[in-house]
Amino acid sequence: MNNHELSQRDLAVLWHPCTQMKDHENYPIIPIKKGQGVWLEDFDGNRYLDAISSWWVNLFGHANPAINAALKNQLDTLEQVIFAGFTHESAIKLAEKLVEITPPGLNRCFYADNGSAAVEVALKMSFHYWRNLGQTQKTKFITLENSYHGETLGALAVGNVALYKDIYAPLLMDVITVPSPDCYHSEPGESWADYSTRRFALMEQTLAQHADSVCAVIIEPLVQCAGNMRMYDAVYLKLLREACDKYALHLIADEIAVGFGRTGTLFACEQAAVTPDFMCLSKGLTGGYLALSAVLTTDNIYQAFYDDYTKLTAFLHSHSYTGNALACRAGLATINIFQQQKIIEKNRQLAKTMGGVAARFHEHPHVAEVRQTGMILAIELVKNKQTREPYPWQERRGLKVYRYALSKGVLLRPLGDVIYFMPPYVISEAELELLAAVAWQGIQHAVRD
Ligand SMILES: *Cc1c(COP(=O)(O)O)cnc(C)c1O
Repeated sequence: MNNHELSQRDLAVLWHPCTQMKDHENYPIIPIKKGQGVWLEDFDGNRYLDAISSWWVNLFGHANPAINAALKNQLDTLEQVIFAGFTHESAIKLAEKLVEITPPGLNRCFYADNGSAAVEVALKMSFHYWRNLGQTQKTKFITLENSYHGETLGALAVGNVALYKDIYAPLLMDVITVPSPDCYHSEPGESWADYSTRRFALMEQTLAQHADSVCAVIIEPLVQCAGNMRMYDAVYLKLLREACDKYALHLIADEIAVGFGRTGTLFACEQAAVTPDFMCLSKGLTGGYLALSAVLTTDNIYQAFYDDYTKLTAFLHSHSYTGNALACRAGLATINIFQQQKIIEKNRQLAKTMGGVAARFHEHPHVAEVRQTGMILAIELVKNKQTREPYPWQERRGLKVYRYALSKGVLLRPLGDVIYFMPPYVISEAELELLAAVAWQGIQHAVRD
């Protein structure tokens, strides 16, 4: 079995996500045989450094011994059981852990099986909460420009990345969109905190105007990941929490991408010391092993659904694989690693090292900005550094970086022309240096002509 044979068979029957399949007439699809730590290996023996954690899910490397062992044990005990009327040990233990490690006040855990589904759950729960309280005028959601919350129709509606959303617009519910605090647009010399504070005025205006009809504000705390890794200051979260209380609406924190240490703290909300009304988790939740998501919420919200059955106030939402036992066990093993190995403390040094290896990119003539929040670092490639004029998107410069890096054994997957590092936490200093060197060469290659 080699790369060529497998890719031919793949392209004969498969349809890949987020892909123009015709691109594969020119670019081979890469069949992966095995993974170990930060490395992936294909069927021809080529190795790739997984610098994007296999789409932001992997935390402690591929084939992690501790997670593998936990899963093998779970496999011989219970793989899956209906989660209505029944429960199991791993689901209970994981929920206990999540309640313990998420911000204070989040005491209830509702499972789903992927990130988009978690967003749907939070939206529906928020709307339904206000219904149960008799507030039937609350039907709308507020979202930020450039946000991303998933691909199912509800999640897509509250997202704002045109490339994924515009074509489906006729199918989507109306939302109220507020300009983003994204600090790429701050004035020269203006701090992120000042800019984010200034931008909050636009949110405040919208809340003052629409609060009566709004169920919740949904945001990605600190980093708009799919929206080109744009970042903003924690002060925005603090102001937003205060305003949501003042105007009596919910705050939904979508920590699907930023949760589990990506921003430097276990959860991004910690940096503003806020507790959202709903926190959506997925991606890193199982260490990158299995599809699972969770929505954490408060006693107050839980109690608004808790009544005699005949009142019909229950949350009658389910997914077949809700609380899957293997996925929950992987989640438990993942949280154990965080706690036993003091990962958040260790990552402080790792994040510094990552900033260090990327320092030279600031000087690059086609780099408008190098930005970093914790374990996420992004490099914004532009045509003109002074005016920040982007390259025409049709030129697909980021794709050139991708192709070049692959040929040198590094898996980057730029978002448009934004090259970013979001590696598993087991990456070494030497591997970070390799990553930066290849990214630099890839940019040099991509900006030629
Ligand atoms: C990936 C992502 C989602 C969607 O999760 P899926 O598991 O891909 O459906 C939602 N919100 C954010 C912030 C994400 O990054």
